[in-house]
Amino acid sequence: MGTDSNTRSDSVPQGIHDLIARGALFVVNHSSGKDSQAMFIMLRAIIPARQLLVIHAVLPEVEWEGVTEHIEDTIGETPMIFAQSVKTLFEMVEHRGMFPSPANRQCTSDLKRGPIEREIRRYLKAHPEFGGLVVNCMGMRAEESTGRAKLEPFKLNAGNSKAGREWYDWLPIHDMTEGEVFNAIHLAGEQPHWAYGAGMTRLSCCFCIMASQADLTTAAHLNPTLYRRYVETEQRLGFTLSMSRKPLTEITGIAA
Ligand code: SF4
Repeated sequence: MGTDSNTRSDSVPQGIHDLIARGALFVVNHSSGKDSQAMFIMLRAIIPARQLLVIHAVLPEVEWEGVTEHIEDTIGETPMIFAQSVKTLFEMVEHRGMFPSPANRQCTSDLKRGPIEREIRRYLKAHPEFGGLVVNCMGMRAEESTGRAKLEPFKLNAGNSKAGREWYDWLPIHDMTEGEVFNAIHLAGEQPHWAYGAGMTRLSCCFCIMASQADLTTAAHLNPTLYRRYVETEQRLGFTLSMSRKPLTEITGIAA
């Protein structure tokens, strides 16, 4: 495709241009990862500043060091709010007696999507100037998986369009490649979060249920205390984090 993030306005659906003109609030879901960062760079070029809001789902104990600071350093004056589940990931795991599976991704729905949608509803209520009109922007890309490739990039969210709200979901960088994402960050004069430079290819929970062997091994080297906690939890529950069903110590070759 070869376009950079600041010249992508031609690929923006007409429906989005209409929503910008109608004064909708654009909420940028920001994990501090490369895709969130590239999405924000793209959006700040086309959305008026007064219509932009960043939201970050906090993952206590399990997210990378410096995540909040990295977002703050790269969003300028854009307001940011936080969403947090009543349960932490470890509390969820202890309660269920197992780690979430990639098939149901309870961690994503309970720790991220649910709390984020709740905070957006609260924000809209507290800011009637947006008239309940909101576009929830997420950084999923088609290239990441066949499931993500099938996602509709722009649609009305009927479930949340009630009680005076008109809610759309938009995946602004759905068609971007990984190379284009890093290029967009580079062209903006920014750096991705430090964990990429340390060898990680993805960023959210330090130890993700869907992480590759290489990422789990890098994360274990970089976060030895947290790694020990995951290994101890696996051994006590008799259930592995990884969908390969191999214990972490076998995957990484690192004893806890
Ligand atoms: S990063 Fe992985 S483990 Fe963490 S919430 Fe998302 S899917 Fe679950």
